[in-house]
Amino acid sequence: MGQCSFVVFFTATIISLATVLAATSGDSDPNYIACVDECEKTGCVAAKCFQHCKFSSDGKSIDGPWYLQEPLYLQWKQWDCRSDCRYHCMLVREEEREKLGEKPNKYHGKWPFRRVFGIQEPVSVALSGLNLAMQFQGWVSFFILVNYKLPLKPDRKTYYEYTGLWHVYAILSMNAWFWSSVFHSRDVDITEKLDYSSAIALLGFSLILAIIRVFSVRTEAARVMVAAPLLAFVTTHILYLNFYQFDYGLNMKVCVTMGLLQILLWAIWAGVTHHPSRWKLWVVVIGGGLASLLEIYDFPPYKGFVDAHALWHATTVPLSFLWWSFIRDDSEFRTSALIRKIK
Ligand SMILES: [Zn+2]
Repeated sequence: MGQCSFVVFFTATIISLATVLAATSGDSDPNYIACVDECEKTGCVAAKCFQHCKFSSDGKSIDGPWYLQEPLYLQWKQWDCRSDCRYHCMLVREEEREKLGEKPNKYHGKWPFRRVFGIQEPVSVALSGLNLAMQFQGWVSFFILVNYKLPLKPDRKTYYEYTGLWHVYAILSMNAWFWSSVFHSRDVDITEKLDYSSAIALLGFSLILAIIRVFSVRTEAARVMVAAPLLAFVTTHILYLNFYQFDYGLNMKVCVTMGLLQILLWAIWAGVTHHPSRWKLWVVVIGGGLASLLEIYDFPPYKGFVDAHALWHATTVPLSFLWWSFIRDDSEFRTSALIRKIK
C-alpha cells in the first residue's frame, strides 16, 4: 500500500510539472500589461484610485504627513502602487475572462485570490493559524505527559530518550506555521524568505529526528554524527537561498528529497516494527502522501478563496493531531519498556 502511494506520488509529480509548464500566464496578457501601465501613470483602474500612486515630480510618493497616512500595518505590508495596480487589473481581467467562459490564469506565478481586509490568502492564513494551534496543543500535552504523568529518572530527567528532540521539533514547526501565516497574508521578498527558510529548517530537522528515532540512535556521539552533516547541509542551503540565489527549482528538489527520505524511513519502520501505535504512523505517512497530491494538483481558488494549497493546509491539521498522539504513545511505550528493563 505504501509503495503504491509512492508510485502515484511520482506520477502525479511528473504530470503536474508538465501542466505547470504548459499553463499560460495572466501577466503576459497584453490587456493586463496595458492596464498596469495605465494604472501606474494615472493611479486608477476604472473608477478605483489608489493613494500610493500619487507621486510628486521627483518620483517620491506624497502620501502626506504620518497622521494622514494609512495605518502602519498596511505600510508594513508594502501596499505600494504597483501591487494595488496589479491586484485590481487582475480582478478586472479575470472578470472579463469569466464572462467569456475562460478558465482562471495565474498572475506572477500565483492564482487570482480575493483579498479580505488586505489579506492575500485568508483561508491559508486561517489554516496556518489552526496548524500552529494544533502543534502547540500537541506539544503542551506531550510536555505534561513526559514531565508530570510518566515516572522520572532519579536525576529528574525523562526516561524517554527523545524528549529534547521533540521539543526542538515543536518549536521549529510552530515557527514554520507562524511564518506561513505571515507569508500567506502578504507575500513580499522578506516574508517569502522567512517562510521558505522556516519550512526548510523544519524539514531538515525532522529528517534528523526520523533517522535518530527509526534507528534508535541513543549515544550522544552517534547522534552528532547523524546531525552534523545534515545541519551543515540545511544551513548552507538556507544561506544559499537567502543570500545568493532564490532558486525555486533547486529548493523543490532539496525539499522533495528530504521529505521523501523521511516518509520512506517512517513507512519502512512502521512495516517492520512491533510498535503498538504503528497504525498511527501508517495513517500519517499515507495521509501525508495523499495530501501532497493536493500540493501537486494545483487548481485555481474556488470563488477566489480555496485553492489546492489551502486544502493541503487543511489536511495537515488532523495529521498533526495524530502525529502528536503517536509521539505521546511513543514516549509511554519507551518509558514502560525502560522501566521494565530496570526492574
Ligand atoms: Zn502555505
